Amino acid sequence: MTVNVVYIGTGMMLILLITSSLYRKQKRKGKVVCVVESICTGCRRCVKKCARHVLETATGETGIHAVVKYPDKCSACGDCLGKCKFNALKLVERI
Ligand code: SF4
Ligand code: SF4
Repeated sequence: MTVNVVYIGTGMMLILLITSSLYRKQKRKGKVVCVVESICTGCRRCVKKCARHVLETATGETGIHAVVKYPDKCSACGDCLGKCKFNALKLVERI
């Protein structure tokens, strides 16, 4: 009886994990990261975090800031967003 409860509990947890993973993937589909240059400080925290090397920094009219150098490589995982203390990154619809 106890063993059955453990199996059922584990099964339900797995189904929940798979469902939430698929939901997140679907939500990210068709999105890409975007930099709000006016509030970006160019700290490079996002650049270092991105495993796909999508981001770089460049100097523009507002000073140094992050740029999306390789948008095609962005999976919209959101890892870089969590590293930005200034909310200078957003996920937007791909054009
Ligand atoms: S959303 Fe993910 S893949 Fe895209 S730039 Fe940020 S960390 Fe890289
Ligand atoms: S972490 Fe934020 S402030 Fe720092 S470079 Fe990236 S976008 Fe700019």
